[in-house]
Amino acid sequence: MRRVTILGSTGSIGENTVDLIARDPGIYDVVALTGGRNVTRLAEQAKQLRADIAVTCYPECYQQLVDLLSGTGIAVAAGRAALIEAAQRPVDWTMSAIVGAAGFPPGLAALAHGTTLALANKESLVTAGPLLMSTARAHGATILPVDSEHSAVFQGLVGEDISAVERIVITASGGAFRDWPIERLADATLAEASSHPNWDMGQRITIDSASMFNKSLELIETKEFFGISPSKIEVIVHPESLIHAMVGFRDGALMAHIGPPDMRHAIGYALHWPDRRHLPVARLDLAQIATLTFRPPDEQRWPALRLARHVMEIGGLSGAVFNAAKEVALDGFIAGQLRFTDMAPVVERVLDAMNADNALHCDRVNLDTVHQADQVARSRAAEAIAQRNEAH
Ligand code: NDP
Repeated sequence: MRRVTILGSTGSIGENTVDLIARDPGIYDVVALTGGRNVTRLAEQAKQLRADIAVTCYPECYQQLVDLLSGTGIAVAAGRAALIEAAQRPVDWTMSAIVGAAGFPPGLAALAHGTTLALANKESLVTAGPLLMSTARAHGATILPVDSEHSAVFQGLVGEDISAVERIVITASGGAFRDWPIERLADATLAEASSHPNWDMGQRITIDSASMFNKSLELIETKEFFGISPSKIEVIVHPESLIHAMVGFRDGALMAHIGPPDMRHAIGYALHWPDRRHLPVARLDLAQIATLTFRPPDEQRWPALRLARHVMEIGGLSGAVFNAAKEVALDGFIAGQLRFTDMAPVVERVLDAMNADNALHCDRVNLDTVHQADQVARSRAAEAIAQRNEAH
């Protein structure tokens, strides 16, 4: 039996992971499932997969989860410390699918116990890539990418030498506003930004796709995970979302990974790696698809891409600051306090202010320095939003 844990099991990636695991109940011993406010679903999953423990990160949801699981023998816990404790339980494989910077400490705790970490939580690599990678190395743990682009690159590199790589091209659908006139973007509503043309994902990543903050995080994730120079990483807009990424080699070959927009492929690849097993994803009919199209990314429409390049140049704590400011700006947009087009300027302002304070550079990136930078960036972003609103 393979012991598995799913951090963030009630989310979009979590549900897809549960779906794959539930198809093979005899193979897996589910140790821990964690969620947030959706304790009803968490309890259903825990019963379905016969988990040892279900954890909600919110103490105020504890009693409800206890009631839902009473008489099942499934242990229940709540809060940040309980989340870390669950992540540290010995397992063979852990899915890291909590959304946002909150996913970093539990993922790091799992790595420190030598697990194989399937990493959907890209924010971990963005906020503290070197720390995550060195922790994995120090404890003999393996990180497998779950973002579809990074899984595609990872698969393209099997049997290859990274030094032969000339470039990595990650594709972007362009999100909800790909074809909107730029002047209309300022008036984009939450509902409009929350609908993705191709992928069915959580709300936050869907909005981040429309702003390309998601692709910006992925640029940084590519640099951190594959250890490749930013100058070799490109983004191309590919509206069909069928090619997920391409790897270009020094002999001119460009290997593309093509598949339907279904996260169960990348999750299943990470679950069965280094094996390949049958997965319940649609098979492409290329004759029916007939055409694949590409266009260059427009940094005027998607200023987040320019900011990501800046972050990759600076390194240090700039990824943690970028991500934290982005999360606050996104909260502001979701809460109706910021316009869609105000998110990038808020993030840029925080980066510039903290750069001016020399707060992006750090000799030692560790959990404490990352946490501190994250907190300062969050309060700076909140201030920037308040000042922006006063000015309007
Ligand atoms: P969702 O918002 O759908 O799910 C997030 C999960 O995290 C839920 O289980 C949620 O619990 C839990 N959660 C929310 N806040 C906290 C917190 N503060 N502490 C602990 N747990 C929390 O996100 P997605 O599944 O869309 O994304 C998860 C991660 O995977 C993100 O990093 C995203 O960028 C990445 N990713 C997602 C893809 C997708 O297709 N969705 C594709 C590639 C990467 P609850 O819902 O119960 O409140």
